[in-house]
Amino acid sequence: MAEKEALQLLLTPFFFIFGSLLGSFSNVVILRMASGKSVIFPPSACPKCNHQLHAIDLIPVLSWLTLRGRCRYCQTRIAWQYPVVEACMAMILGFSYLKAGLGLPFIVLAGRTAIWFVASVLFVRNEVQSPNPFAWAVIFYVYLNFPLGVCPFVDRRVLAIPVIAAVAALLASFRNERTNDFAWGCLSFIAIYSLLQRFSLLTAIPVLLAALLNRYERTRSVGHLLFFGLQITAIIYAIAPM
Ligand SMILES: [Zn+2]
Repeated sequence: MAEKEALQLLLTPFFFIFGSLLGSFSNVVILRMASGKSVIFPPSACPKCNHQLHAIDLIPVLSWLTLRGRCRYCQTRIAWQYPVVEACMAMILGFSYLKAGLGLPFIVLAGRTAIWFVASVLFVRNEVQSPNPFAWAVIFYVYLNFPLGVCPFVDRRVLAIPVIAAVAALLASFRNERTNDFAWGCLSFIAIYSLLQRFSLLTAIPVLLAALLNRYERTRSVGHLLFFGLQITAIIYAIAPM
């Protein structure tokens, strides 16, 4: 037992660091998806001065902090999204490992939470109007249960979730061309589904409220941010060591 604990202590920092690197990659994915560019090529460069970034500029969180949020070459401000996504991804992988240990349950928990988080950031940036990343997030979230021997359709309440998600999407996007109703539907589905074991379908209420606020011009930004906040809260619940 003591040996197992020592190994876990040894591996924990590794997963936090690996998570931050994955966060760095996620930032690239998020930005290039928004502008429709290739994810792999070209190598990272400053969007303002086009100076190619070197390893020292790409250390997750630390590079941003030591450069005080500015480009090393042209001093342009670098968005705080970069270190925040890196830190969040570090926590998603680190805490998933602490919760599930090494093995298949860890890969399932970390994998689906990481994809869910990236989809939530794409949602809050509101630049991607394609349904693809959000639909993939749902597919991954549900089907990653199968390797654990859990059939996601066993619980009858699961059947109600697509209906609630569709209502949320309709509420949010009514007379609102800029709203990605797929994103609302898919992320509502994941958030409620993730909390199914711990709560009841009452978790649908804040989701529907956020969608309702998004429906009206005056409260649109509040609804949009509230919905993102709900995703992050649900993500924290999913990986919290309980
Ligand atoms: Zn620059």
